Amino acid sequence: MKKIAILGSTGSIGTQTLEVVRENGDIEVQGIAAGSNIRLLEKQIREFHPRIAAVWSKEKAGELKACISDTDTKVVSGMDGLLEVSTLGNTEILVTAIVGMIGIRPTIEGIKAGKDIALANKETLVTAGHIIMPLARENRVSILPVDSEHSAIFQSLQGNEQKALHKILLTASGGPFRGKKEEELLEIRVEDALKHPNWAMGQKITIDSSTMVNKGLEVIEAKWLFGVDVDQVQVVVQPQSIIHSMVEYVDGAIMAQLGTPDMKLPIQYALYYPKRRFLPGERIDFWSLGKLDFEKPDMDTFYGLKLAYDAGRKGGTLPTVFNAANELAVRQFLNREIKYLEIVEIIEDCMQAHKNIDNPSLQEILDAEAATYDRINSRR
Ligand code: NAD
Ligand code: MG
Repeated sequence: MKKIAILGSTGSIGTQTLEVVRENGDIEVQGIAAGSNIRLLEKQIREFHPRIAAVWSKEKAGELKACISDTDTKVVSGMDGLLEVSTLGNTEILVTAIVGMIGIRPTIEGIKAGKDIALANKETLVTAGHIIMPLARENRVSILPVDSEHSAIFQSLQGNEQKALHKILLTASGGPFRGKKEEELLEIRVEDALKHPNWAMGQKITIDSSTMVNKGLEVIEAKWLFGVDVDQVQVVVQPQSIIHSMVEYVDGAIMAQLGTPDMKLPIQYALYYPKRRFLPGERIDFWSLGKLDFEKPDMDTFYGLKLAYDAGRKGGTLPTVFNAANELAVRQFLNREIKYLEIVEIIEDCMQAHKNIDNPSLQEILDAEAATYDRINSRR
């Protein structure tokens, strides 16, 4: 039995990871962690019998403890709880499906404890990739991408020499507002932005997909995962989300991974790498598909993507500012405190005001996050 732990077990990626576990039947879930969905956590504990469950708030942890007192699962809380789940005795793979850069410390501690990381939590690599990637090499652990594009790139790199890689073609659906111009985005409401054409995901990443900030985060994620410059990563809009990404080699050959949009494929690939397993579900039928479309991304309207290239090129604490500003601005938009276009305006303002620090320590990253939050909060 393979042993895993999941950070963010109640979310979109977390629940799909548990579906993969359920369908395969040969993975043991040793630990789970989530924010506050006690009801779902209780169900997960009763089905998967983890040794330990972490809940972010102390109060909610108390509630969960009371509900599951008839089980053997230990309940923990806060950052200490997350770290306990990340470093659990004999787990082999830590699935990081938590949202936001709060995942940095648990990921670092998981790596130090020798766990392979099945990484969905892109915000962690965007802000601390320069710490995480060398640390993983030092501890001889693998970082296995779960993000569908990065899984596609990883799959397309199998059997080829890394040094023959010329560029990465990162595909994007373009989101629900593809083709729209700024004046058409002025009155976008939360409900509009939460409608993704091809994927059902958590709220934050769905908003990020609509602004193309998600694609920007993914450009920086690709830089760290595959050791390329951000300018070797070209974003290609492929509205049907059938080509999940491509790799171009020095001889001009392009390798791609295609499939119906289903996150269970990249999740399962990361959990069983390098093996492939049967996965039930729809297959591509090229006759009914007929054609695939390609477009250039509109970086003038969706200039969050341009800001991400800037941040990725300069490095240092700037990607943290890009990411932290986006995390808080998206939260404010979801709370209906700001307008849609303000999300990227806020990111730009914070990046312009920031004095970049090269090669930041974890503390400097967290300080840059806090300073970004202070700046945004003082706007009001
Ligand atoms: P989600 O909002 O559906 O789930 C987030 C999970 O994190 C939940 O279980 C929540 O309880 C947990 N969480 C949040 N804050 C926490 C805290 N402080 N302590 C403990 N747990 C906490 O998000 P998602 O869509 O599943 O995305 C998760 C990550 O995966 C994100 O980084 C996202 O960018 C990435 N990702 C998601 C998808 C997708 O299809 N959903 C695809 C690619 C990448
Ligand atoms: Mg993705």
